[in-house]
Amino acid sequence: MQNPFDSVIEQLENVSKLIEVDTKILEKLKKPNKILEGEVSAGGKKYHAYRVQYNNARGPYKGGIRYHPQVNMDEVKALAAWMTFKCAAVNIPYGGGKGGIAVDPKGLTRDELEELSRGWVRLFFKDIGPEKDIPAPDVYTNPQIMEWMVDEYSKLAGKPTPAAFTGKPIERGGSIGRESSTSEGGIIILLELLKKLGKDPKGLTVAIQGYGNVGHFAAFYLHEKGFKVVALSDSKGGIYNPDGFEPQKIFKCKLEKGALNQCHIEGSVTDAEGKKITNEELLELDVDILIPAALENQITEENANNIKADIILELANGPTTPKADTILNKKRKIIVPDILANAGGVVGSYFEWLQNMKNDKWDEKKFSEELNKNLVLAFEDIWKKSKELDIELRTAAYVVAVERVAKAMG
Ligand code: GLU
Repeated sequence: MQNPFDSVIEQLENVSKLIEVDTKILEKLKKPNKILEGEVSAGGKKYHAYRVQYNNARGPYKGGIRYHPQVNMDEVKALAAWMTFKCAAVNIPYGGGKGGIAVDPKGLTRDELEELSRGWVRLFFKDIGPEKDIPAPDVYTNPQIMEWMVDEYSKLAGKPTPAAFTGKPIERGGSIGRESSTSEGGIIILLELLKKLGKDPKGLTVAIQGYGNVGHFAAFYLHEKGFKVVALSDSKGGIYNPDGFEPQKIFKCKLEKGALNQCHIEGSVTDAEGKKITNEELLELDVDILIPAALENQITEENANNIKADIILELANGPTTPKADTILNKKRKIIVPDILANAGGVVGSYFEWLQNMKNDKWDEKKFSEELNKNLVLAFEDIWKKSKELDIELRTAAYVVAVERVAKAMG
């Protein structure tokens, strides 16, 4: 299995071949500033908890907290590094961090989940805060968990401190638009790319791997813009219908049945004539656009040669290994890299934080307009860099990001 932190180092090495980066700065960029870890308990059991504060040259550390059985130090380090480059790539005033707990949250009761989440905050309280390090949701964490966390933080701080976390419920200091902003941002970027390529979105076929917060909102937005969502999957498997799904119906069915691959059955609420596929098969479908929206290391040297989609929009963090990247680049596939494609999430978090800091409230229109403005600019910067240096979008995004972080460090 590819170590995700090795991918980070490789990405940095690639950049240093293209632009001049001071050696000391480059070496510093290959290591996190601070590693925090400890144990948290829930229901009488102990779990390992992490926070990696990677770099804060451009602003407070920023990044989500992941609850997943496979969470480990190298993964959290990689995710924290990617947050650093993501915030720089889209030019928001944050550094990068990431946290997690090695736990299967699906096996916990609601009370245990709350105990676990409050425990994480008590463990790292001294090192986080609105101007230090601002966590947010990630895989298997959500607004409810952020609400418990901000409540625990506020108790310890002795005052309400909503800006300590983002991704909160709207009625508890969250922002309209934040929950769907990763997906909305991804579609904004995709539409900009299609404009450059002179392609009409209408009828383009899309396969989405992952049906968490990001995958399911992406399906809604794509459908709304006229794309044809032909395949979807969750951790249990996927469904495929060449005629396209109606995302609203699928969403209802998933809520009722708990698994997407139960949503093709005749007479079910979907009425879709879909057929069951595996997650692996989904990646290799003959579609125009492939959207990995689950975990790291899904597109590897093993399956990269079988990928048929011309465009890969990385809504997950780190879904493509460096070896797969090389193969896909040779095949002239266009990869919109994670640090650009999924940055709508953290840009949305930045807007939420701004509102909390200024005691302000934006409406949906303002949120979407600002998101659009920020990401279109970021896309332009990276597109221009890729043309200027004749490099792929991933390397261009890293060049833009590393230049910005190095400038702040130097
Ligand atoms: N977990 C999201 C990401 O990987 C959002 C982070 C944030 O909003 O701070 O980008």
